[in-house]
Amino acid sequence: MNDNTNSQAQITGSCACGKVKFVARPPTQQTVHCYCTTCRKCSGSDYIAFTHFNIDQVHWTTSPQIWRKTDRATRGLCKTCGSCVSMMYDSDPRHIAITLGSVDEGASLIQPLSKCIMVSEKADWAILPSGVSHDQKMSVPDNELD
Ligand SMILES: [Zn+2]
Ligand SMILES: [Zn+2]
Repeated sequence: MNDNTNSQAQITGSCACGKVKFVARPPTQQTVHCYCTTCRKCSGSDYIAFTHFNIDQVHWTTSPQIWRKTDRATRGLCKTCGSCVSMMYDSDPRHIAITLGSVDEGASLIQPLSKCIMVSEKADWAILPSGVSHDQKMSVPDNELD
């Protein structure tokens, strides 16, 4: 098969050990860096980068384990290696955020960074990128995504 159109229009991803896998269809919505405490702890670093999809654009080849830390969102984790691969906001069940770090193929199809969120919880040592807005709280999903 030499169907370039089809093979390019795909974003694939996986966790660190490769057990959890997904295939997603572009376009992605906005891409954010989240500096909340839970993202810092989950990643062991200053933020997690997420890109947002409609829920029906993402197909899990192997689903992650769902973990709830707060009353506003759930995260998808690999129960073997612990990688955070996704997040869903309770207030917006139509969308899913996929961690950029889990993406294997199709990264060029992902929207560039549009903003930093939850900056009010960022670590003192974290350095924010310039050229994008720095929102103190969660401005995703609110009314910015359709
Ligand atoms: Zn894994
Ligand atoms: Zn976060």
